[in-house]
Amino acid sequence: MKIRAIEVFRLKPPKREFESKARRPPWTQDAEVANPMSKFPEFKRHRSLWLPRWETVWVKVTAEDGTFGLGPCSFGRPVASIIEDHFAPKLIGQDALAIEKIWDMMFRMSKPYGTVGLASVAMSGVDLALWDLAGKLHGCPVYELLGGPARERIFTYATGNDTDWQLELGFKAVKLACPYGPADGLWGLQENEKLVARTRELVGDDVEIMLDCYMAFDVEYTVRLAERLRPYRLKWIEEYLIPEDLDGHVAVRQRLPWQTLATGEHMYTPWPFRQLIERRAVDILQPDIFWVGGLTACRHIAEMANSAGITVILHGGGNSSYGQHFTYAMPNTPWAEYFVGSPPGVPLEEATHFPGTPVPVDGWLVPNDGPGFGVEIPEEWLEPFFA
Ligand SMILES: [Mg+2]
Repeated sequence: MKIRAIEVFRLKPPKREFESKARRPPWTQDAEVANPMSKFPEFKRHRSLWLPRWETVWVKVTAEDGTFGLGPCSFGRPVASIIEDHFAPKLIGQDALAIEKIWDMMFRMSKPYGTVGLASVAMSGVDLALWDLAGKLHGCPVYELLGGPARERIFTYATGNDTDWQLELGFKAVKLACPYGPADGLWGLQENEKLVARTRELVGDDVEIMLDCYMAFDVEYTVRLAERLRPYRLKWIEEYLIPEDLDGHVAVRQRLPWQTLATGEHMYTPWPFRQLIERRAVDILQPDIFWVGGLTACRHIAEMANSAGITVILHGGGNSSYGQHFTYAMPNTPWAEYFVGSPPGVPLEEATHFPGTPVPVDGWLVPNDGPGFGVEIPEEWLEPFFA
């Protein structure tokens, strides 16, 4: 079955209001989060002051018989351009089920302008659309194509700083966004400790706590903060360094032998993950299925990690059917992340925008068993990206 078309779209779902009343605005609206730009005072207060406003790109791959698959990815126009201008014309006519070959072609085609970053994001959208298409052509869910379920249901943890609401939703593991970093000095260290101490007090001893540091720290700050937080028994500390600093990750590993360490959402293609595994720099790898190169890249990473006894927990893996299917099927993906950015008081099933995507109940979920990824987005929601 050959590929007939590869097209890029924006998603235009109908506007809707929540039926349930929000008790307060979500933490995402105002909470300060330490980040790589925190050293610049004019951008420090909120990530929205410097992050690009690029929207999600939806890739549609259509086979000769009219069957199509959908795959989303991030970062708007530059990514949509790579797909439309470069990948699509070269991939039309290829065997739609030759997913590994097509991944390898995109990987090699993007060499002249660099694969890691925007190109691996573009690869992700095409790759996920191909897996969705393959599931539909075979008439089965993608997790069956990966060998079938590895577990009965998926344990999800909640990310976000509305911890009281997450407990109410039944989550048994919660991850905080760290508010302060090196730019805030000793005061920030103290405030970070107060937040974690308050959270431990709130959740008690039967809920895990993790801390996400969004590339904001250096080695010294990571070590100082982790030592202060040791009494609160964090399950892991995440993404404390910029992704390029492999030696820094090794140094943190050596200086904090007792602390579980996790990273990977801003690493692209399996290559940097191989380096982390070889150096045993972290305990948990966290690729993002929409950025790293799609399901094909995540599978390569999970297989490398599995043979080294290392765990993979996808970045945001619980929030999409794509991450859910992958997490359901692989042997070393015990948890999924569920980002909670909607207001407290509004149930998750009301807050989610993706028809066909289950939400966690008491912290557990089972993926949709429809063909492909089971995504049920109406075609009329898709608008040509470059209209
Ligand atoms: Mg993170």
